[in-house]
Amino acid sequence: MSDRTRKLLIGTSNVGKAHELRQLLDGWHLLTLADFPALQPPPETGETFEANAALKARYYAAHTGLWTLADDSGLEVEALAGAPGIHSARYAGASATDAENVAKLLAELQRTNDPERRARFVCVIALASPDGRAWLFRGMCRGRIAHAPRGDGGFGYDPIFVPEGESLTFSELSAEEKQRRSHRARALAQARDFLLSLRDDEPCAR
Ligand code: IMP
Repeated sequence: MSDRTRKLLIGTSNVGKAHELRQLLDGWHLLTLADFPALQPPPETGETFEANAALKARYYAAHTGLWTLADDSGLEVEALAGAPGIHSARYAGASATDAENVAKLLAELQRTNDPERRARFVCVIALASPDGRAWLFRGMCRGRIAHAPRGDGGFGYDPIFVPEGESLTFSELSAEEKQRRSHRARALAQARDFLLSLRDDEPCAR
């Protein structure tokens, strides 16, 4: 098997996500968007996690000639009718920081007076081949929204997300504990199984 055979591009510029995906994809020669600095991200015009993940994976695969894995993910809060959902990264504005998004979410949820504060993280991973084929894998993690941010680990909404059966937030749990139950790890486990089942003549089979 040549060195080229196991290359896989991770189509994300989110450092936190890329780090988590790397930890779960041992055994592949992983490239990231940092290896293609001239490549501009496509506009995320889809209205579902599936549509956005697929459009990113297909776009990067077509432009690099590499098998590509891209994800689209976000937080759905029950009392907010599923918001911020696909808008999670930009909930408090186009260039909002994680802290600003968290603050807006806490304020909006406070207004609903919902005592349950149920939420779930969703991650859809798309795998695309350079010839335009794509496969989708969905993972979820249910939990509740804390009343205030707690912990230093992770990224995004981790400081306010308490997974089911836990009292600590994703930011307070170790990276390994988050990986064990996270939406991204669950979607990726399915994508990994699929990659492992590919025939030897597919360029990204292991
Ligand atoms: P995307 O890059 O459009 O998929 O944006 C996903 C956004 O959802 C991120 O910027 C975070 O705000 C949020 N998000 C997704 N997954 C996680 C996670 O594992 N922890 C915390 N926030 C997350």
